[in-house]
Amino acid sequence: MHACGHDIHTTTLIGVAEVLRDLAPQLAGTVKLVFQPAEEGIGGMRAMIADGVMDGPKVDLALGFHNHPDVPVGTFGFVRGAALAAADRFDIVVHGKSGHAAMPHTAIDPIVAAAVLVGQLQTVVSREVPPTMPVVVTVGCIQGGTAYNIIPDSCAIKGTVRTLHPRARDIAEAAIRRLSAGMLEGLRVTCEVDYRRGVPMLRNDDRVLDPTVTAVRKQFGSEAIEQGQASLGGEDFALMADLVPGFQLRVGSSQPGREDKLHNSAYQPDERCIGFGVQALARAALELLA
Ligand SMILES: [Zn+2]
Repeated sequence: MHACGHDIHTTTLIGVAEVLRDLAPQLAGTVKLVFQPAEEGIGGMRAMIADGVMDGPKVDLALGFHNHPDVPVGTFGFVRGAALAAADRFDIVVHGKSGHAAMPHTAIDPIVAAAVLVGQLQTVVSREVPPTMPVVVTVGCIQGGTAYNIIPDSCAIKGTVRTLHPRARDIAEAAIRRLSAGMLEGLRVTCEVDYRRGVPMLRNDDRVLDPTVTAVRKQFGSEAIEQGQASLGGEDFALMADLVPGFQLRVGSSQPGREDKLHNSAYQPDERCIGFGVQALARAALELLA
């Protein structure tokens, strides 16, 4: 099960090590290969930075990569500037007052209030953030109550906010807090909001992007790499790219005739992408450290 294809990344980077070992004398610098665990929202890069991955030898620029089933195998993709979203999480606990389902007037129903709030949260995208700034607000979990005939005390909502612009991030957080606070006036519930900022936006830096694109063109031809669209996915490589100029290369992994997506148990990357990735990254090292 490939899921997000991180096994592909590990294998590719071992291949890069094999190639660069022989090319090392030609490089005007040091290449540090970073095998980062726990990219999926549990802070692998944060831990590696805390452990000193940026020092000894000091890192001056960072080249990341990710397999991409939206890009045909044998080709590559890049995004200039903002490429991946800042990814935040929020928990909202809606507190009401429990009571008998048949006497709702004696209770304060947190489930009805939570349903209204989930609807209102959609207005963060449609009515709050400027339409020129991409934003996603998704409620991925709502939990409350235990029985057919009891109005519970509380109802919990969990969700994620994705933005490609710092201002959109501030507006979205403020709006979620304000809409939650407003539920007290309207529906008499108190909302406890825990909003946690996660990985920052990934901004690809031309100082790494341009030499890498040049390297890919030299290795595979000018048609082999194309500019793609930014994604509202999040990626903790952004933490490293916040400290030094960074760029994440998209390595095409789609198998002809399949419509694969990442984070899917049926994902079957075309494993030729490993060899192509090794060539592209090793060539990029030569270009960056010429
Ligand atoms: Zn991934």
